[in-house]
Amino acid sequence: MSDTQDNIIQEKPLALNPSPAADQVDLIGLSRQELEAAVIRFGLPKFRAKQIWHWLYHRGVKSIDEMTTLSLRVRDKLAGYCFIGRPSVVNQQLSEDNTRKWLLAIPGGGEVETVFIPERERGALCISSQVGCALSCKFCHTGTQPLLRNLTAADIVGQLMIARDTYGEWPSSRGGRLLSNIVMMGMGEPLLNFDNVAKALKIVMDQEGISISKRRITLSTAGYVPNMKRCGEELNVNLAVSLHAVRNEIRDEIVPLNKKFPIEELLEACRSYPGSHNARRITFEYVMLKGINDSESDARELVRLMRGIPAKINLIPFNAWPGAPFECSSGATINRFSEIINNAGYSAPVRMPRGRDIMAACGQLKSASERAKQKSQEATASSSCGRSSNPYTARAFPINS
Ligand code: SAH
Repeated sequence: MSDTQDNIIQEKPLALNPSPAADQVDLIGLSRQELEAAVIRFGLPKFRAKQIWHWLYHRGVKSIDEMTTLSLRVRDKLAGYCFIGRPSVVNQQLSEDNTRKWLLAIPGGGEVETVFIPERERGALCISSQVGCALSCKFCHTGTQPLLRNLTAADIVGQLMIARDTYGEWPSSRGGRLLSNIVMMGMGEPLLNFDNVAKALKIVMDQEGISISKRRITLSTAGYVPNMKRCGEELNVNLAVSLHAVRNEIRDEIVPLNKKFPIEELLEACRSYPGSHNARRITFEYVMLKGINDSESDARELVRLMRGIPAKINLIPFNAWPGAPFECSSGATINRFSEIINNAGYSAPVRMPRGRDIMAACGQLKSASERAKQKSQEATASSSCGRSSNPYTARAFPINS
């Protein structure tokens, strides 16, 4: 799995808004209320905010000039005060399975990755919430990168804007969209940047703009319990929980956040997650790590823990990255694990890894500059790791629905 893929498309950074002045406001990422307040500050009537919102998020315009329902005088005035920001695309890669990954430079510094996973008539965009991550989950590539900063609402919405630009999905249509779903499963822990994530998702859900329903949005957390209730109450999006182990001794090791919020507390927060019921189950993610969390007794304990929770379990074959300290469980072990959970009445599909050839699969995201840094460290370090490659073969498993 090399980083130097032939299919990297090097791009010049977008120069849509040639160096906006320091006091100019980025219209992307403002809440509706903030946009109204800004419009009034610019000396325009409040109703202009509604029109601007429509141009930004329904039509996806990239310049104020394109807002043709506004008079030239109004457009000129706006252009003096504000601009329409986009992250710049450093490069994009297209996998042999059509998964696409963008490396985006975030205004103000830092890089994040965004991944689009197409299916037949729909697709999920996997969005990052932070540059790096503070949680250091042992099996996660992003976890080896320190937290550099929280993304702003503009940075988060910007990832979707870039994806929609790429697939030509403007104006927002009612149905038939390729970019139909959002998963907050990229780099970072969304519940540790909740205010910005919430602001961005409210923009994305707004029915007069991008209009992606809360039912098509899933937020994944490693278990930052204090913000789970807020997430349910304020956003009411689908929840995914990265469980990965059924005993605290193991979970403490592989998801260190467990030392603060152990399994019992996490599951209690799941039981009381606002809006969860049978029709809208919580997804538990479980990465299959050979000899660590994949025994039959682990599967039975998982079933016991799920009691009373409307749950489905996603089994994720471990996606290896250079230097990862784990191996993926064997196909037979994963199938047996899945069978035990299925027999107890829970759905437990095995997730087909996507975009592995471009390092876009779950847990492989990492900024290019960090990867380069790591590579040079690896080159100078002794080769004592003795880590073997992932023995798992994707074709052995059914595709998750
Ligand atoms: N911080 C959030 C979201 C980011 S990770 C969270 O922890 O949920 C998205 C999912 O990918 C999580 O379930 C994460 O545990 C899983 N993941 C991370 N590294 C992985 C790897 N190498 N192989 C398979 N899944 C991985």
